[in-house]
Amino acid sequence: MAQPKPDPARLAAVDYAPPRRAWRDLPVEFRKGTYNYAAPRKHAEALGLPHARDWQPHDADWKLPPDWKRIILEGMKARLDRYRSFRLFMDICVRCGACADKCHFYLGSGDPRNTPVIRAELLRSVYRRYFTAAGRAFGPLAGGRDLTEDVLKEWFYYFYQCTECRRCSVFCPYGIDTAEITMIGRELLGLVGCSIQWVVEPAANCYRTGNHLGIQPHGFKDSLEFAADELEELTGIRVDIPIDRKGAEVLLVVPSADYFGTPHYYTLLGYLMVLHEAGVDYTFSAFASEGGNFGLFASHDLMKRLNAKIYSEARRLRVKWILGGECGHMWRVVHQYMGTMNGPADFLEVPVSPATGTRFAHAASTKMIHVCEFTADLIAHGRLRLDRSRNDHWNVTFHDSCNPARGMGLYEEPRVILREVVTHFHEMAEDTIRERTLCCGSGAGLGTDENFEMRMRGGRPRAMAVQEVRARHGVNCVACICAIDKATLPPLMEYWVPGVEVAGVHELVGNALVMTGERPRATDLRGEPLHVAGGARA
Ligand code: SF4
Ligand code: SF4
Repeated sequence: MAQPKPDPARLAAVDYAPPRRAWRDLPVEFRKGTYNYAAPRKHAEALGLPHARDWQPHDADWKLPPDWKRIILEGMKARLDRYRSFRLFMDICVRCGACADKCHFYLGSGDPRNTPVIRAELLRSVYRRYFTAAGRAFGPLAGGRDLTEDVLKEWFYYFYQCTECRRCSVFCPYGIDTAEITMIGRELLGLVGCSIQWVVEPAANCYRTGNHLGIQPHGFKDSLEFAADELEELTGIRVDIPIDRKGAEVLLVVPSADYFGTPHYYTLLGYLMVLHEAGVDYTFSAFASEGGNFGLFASHDLMKRLNAKIYSEARRLRVKWILGGECGHMWRVVHQYMGTMNGPADFLEVPVSPATGTRFAHAASTKMIHVCEFTADLIAHGRLRLDRSRNDHWNVTFHDSCNPARGMGLYEEPRVILREVVTHFHEMAEDTIRERTLCCGSGAGLGTDENFEMRMRGGRPRAMAVQEVRARHGVNCVACICAIDKATLPPLMEYWVPGVEVAGVHELVGNALVMTGERPRATDLRGEPLHVAGGARA
């Protein structure tokens, strides 16, 4: 049964007064609505994860393996030896506090353990105790802390209240990346079988069927054919959607939500229209039918295993390069980890647009470019005919999704596109966009119903920035380029800023695109009448 939603007025009244007791002395409380359920045994077993079992965070007994402490400390040592960044981040924080009020979970909850500096300290205190001479000799006097079950539970609660968005790292004078610390924290928890359902189940589905939703190849094929039917009805043009076609020039990989969720589906329609119009020789893969990589939210190993699928399909299908859809964390994995993790992909070629001849040299290692890069290039070369008035019912702002924005620096291309495909476009406040963008509050596996209160708290700073442009300019649509955002921003908007809808950038492209030989359109991709008297919907 769905839990009743908390009253927004209660969540808006955040108490920032520090607690009377030091954070180290406060036992963690697994309060309903603020944490995620544990990974079920069957999904953990499907991935071969260690110590798979059925348990829940609110249970008193977590059924930990008897030698859990040894496992964690050995795991920590191995990672300190392997990842120089991790050791550095454990050592160099000067506790200046510049990051403290930059985390949306702290802003939304007022909980000091949600400041990035203390979130990192949860792990750092154990590091000091067991891996530094001062900590071994003087324990708490040197900032060290024994690893106990309570500490482990605290790790679980707070490392699953971090969306790995990296906003805090932008403000840290040392560039300490708390997201990387969270990743190691989650990885250590995973060594003793403490992971969450909403990370492990999609990853297990990927192993079984190639995508997070567990859609079988025939379901994948059916939904793409359905999309072709819908486009034909809308435009009079039948687009070809090849699947597993060997020898195509380009492999197209999109998040599975694009062909099974809304508003994602309208984004898919937009890609299909652009690729048809640009005459791209491409194919989908029924196995690489998922761009998203929930391995990023569990462990480096799982991330690597899931990313490899895209490249092995590119090899099998003998394509030249890869085009990726509007996905968030796929891009963080590809841009930041692919080159050393599974790459370089030397069996592929540096992407070259068949429509404009542009060589995307920055993708020399990954051989993969973002669909926004591809479309912005088409627009810059005048290769698309666009009628932006078809989006006049939308008054648009743009949410920089954390991973494509901070993770790969994709700031301008979506804006280049939006300025050409919509008439009414308004940026949110400068300190909430581009590099400083505020997270949706539900990424990194936290977008679950059971975690609803914490999601709404974490997403509130983003929602307030939207509320501001709604009040000032009448914004009624948040455009974004991340499948998680398209799933989590709609409930966030409904909760904090009712009346604002969410759309993919390529949905708006699809509305504006005048395809060669199309018949006059009466509706947008959602089936809504194209022109509304008086301009943009309020
Ligand atoms: S800004 Fe950097 S150095 Fe300062 S407290 Fe935060 S993590 Fe530590
Ligand atoms: S990475 Fe994002 S969610 Fe995590 S501590 Fe930093 S700002 Fe907060």
